[in-house]
Amino acid sequence: MTSTAIQSTHQERMAFVYVRQSTPLQVIENRESTERQYRLCDRAIELGWPPSRVEVIDEDQGRSGSTAAHRTGFQRLATEVSLGKVGIVLMLEASRLARNNSDWYRLMEICGVSGTLIADEGGVYNPREPNDGLLLGVKGTISEAELFTLRTRLHEGRWNKARTGLLHFPLPVGYVQGADASWALDPDTQVRERLNYLFDCFRRHGVVRGVVRELKEQGLELPTRVAAREGYGSLVWKAPTLSTVIRILHNPAYAGAYVYGRSEYSNVRRSPKTGKASAHLRSVEQWPVKITGHHAAYIGWEEFVKNQERLRRNWSRPDNPGVARQGRALLQGLVYCGVCGRKMSVQDRAAKEHRSPSYVCGRGYYDGDEKICQSMTSRPIDAAVVEVFLGAVSPLSLRVAMQVLDQLEQDLIVQHRQRELQLEQARYEARLAQRQYDAVDPANRLVAGELERRWNVKLERVAQLERSYAQAERDAEWSLTKEERGAITKLSQDLPAIWHAETTTNQERKQLLRMVIECVQLDGMRQAGQIEIQIRWRSGAITDHNVNRTAPGGGSLKTPAEAVSLIHRMAGRNGYGEIATELNRTGLRSAFGRCFTTQHVGYICRRDGLAKRNPRGASKSKNSLDSSARS
Ligand SMILES: [Zn+2]
Repeated sequence: MTSTAIQSTHQERMAFVYVRQSTPLQVIENRESTERQYRLCDRAIELGWPPSRVEVIDEDQGRSGSTAAHRTGFQRLATEVSLGKVGIVLMLEASRLARNNSDWYRLMEICGVSGTLIADEGGVYNPREPNDGLLLGVKGTISEAELFTLRTRLHEGRWNKARTGLLHFPLPVGYVQGADASWALDPDTQVRERLNYLFDCFRRHGVVRGVVRELKEQGLELPTRVAAREGYGSLVWKAPTLSTVIRILHNPAYAGAYVYGRSEYSNVRRSPKTGKASAHLRSVEQWPVKITGHHAAYIGWEEFVKNQERLRRNWSRPDNPGVARQGRALLQGLVYCGVCGRKMSVQDRAAKEHRSPSYVCGRGYYDGDEKICQSMTSRPIDAAVVEVFLGAVSPLSLRVAMQVLDQLEQDLIVQHRQRELQLEQARYEARLAQRQYDAVDPANRLVAGELERRWNVKLERVAQLERSYAQAERDAEWSLTKEERGAITKLSQDLPAIWHAETTTNQERKQLLRMVIECVQLDGMRQAGQIEIQIRWRSGAITDHNVNRTAPGGGSLKTPAEAVSLIHRMAGRNGYGEIATELNRTGLRSAFGRCFTTQHVGYICRRDGLAKRNPRGASKSKNSLDSSARS
């Protein structure tokens, strides 16, 4: 292909070398290809770019290539090209750049608009030229077709092997591969006996927690195979945990069955971090490949099926549905145990029980501890945290915070400048060391060796500074625009009203809390009758608070006594609506912390047997005085 396409206008801009391997394994194994890709830097220099204007983009190492959505390197490349900063993009095979045709055409289009060239080992292409454009398009299409064929062939081949039980995968602990690739029981007697003991335990207890507890009491550990690269496949003994035992009980291999396709990958749900599809387990009837009696078993197939049913029932007991929460505990998902550091869960009672939910530290219990670590009623904790939260975002405190922020911004600019200077200095020293090394006679080995060592040290320092600065820059990205400042000030003035409004749902309140609170740590063990609350704010600050534990039975929600007595005084003379207005005017709130409504007042009057406003009748007012003693 022609190099005549390269103009000086191209050479004045950057040359980007795009390096990509698909999987982390390929990155490690396929060094040769990686090196070929890095050698493209030399090619850019050959084509007339000065080394200082050649940049390598290799952020996508170890990402799957099917779509650009999760590949920051590709997106960065597209951005830089569209800004007109790039004169040429180099890659190993032009079409490797993007395995998805739409990505590829998008990049070609942007390159065409911004006058950027595309080059691979074969040649230099100008997407503005019709012939070059056609060639690049064909390359992209072929690449996509290739990927499709490859994927289909691999997929079909794997399933064909699996259907006959010949597809190999790492065997579960307790089995070893025989000489003819068949499955054999582990020759280690201790492994076999421990597994048998585990299944026997589950037969007797019927719950996994019981199994874990018994194993722990006996001081028995469970065998596992090392999955890490070093020492892969070797046997280690580990303390039993709930998840290990569940995994063993769920594994059909121990019932002598060869099963493939237990989990299903739906393309709908993807991990936001890696972009990989998330798996969910199929039920036993839906397993696509199931060969029973494939190898020697630890338990019978019937027992395995029965165990699955039992595990399922244990999981969702009718009195504890686990889902469909009321969600009244505002700190759900934010609370951690101050005693053991584990995440605490919310135990929500049905709304009609009139009890507020509790925060429970129960992870240790599920892993075989004797009892749960600690638990406490959520209401006083939520109230305290909300009070602190509303106080913390008051207009005054925000004004102070924004002044601090201004100062910080100034500091950041100064720091940024200092970092740039420091990095520039380090780069200069590295270049100097390189020149000294280049200048020495290679035959003078001693000197060359020492100079090379010095050069390496300088390079290492540059890399280290670059890494730490990239982190510092990322941390520093929080300057506010004028609009954001205005919005924050406005919100802080309205916040208490928004918080208490009837239309605000608990979910919205939780979101508001999560905007400023990172997590909350609770300790109800250190002081009797007290709960220590430690709030870790998103700003990095940590504040400590204390609340009294609710007395036994006090966990249920009650209308404040003050409000009830006011209702008692006003009932008979005023309508429900008037009473509600008066209550709200004096700042009283219902048991749930909301404004009073007509219905609410009516409910309390009926509950306490108070008379409705009646022009003639003081006849029932005696009755109402009696009942006021009750509440
Ligand atoms: Zn705990």
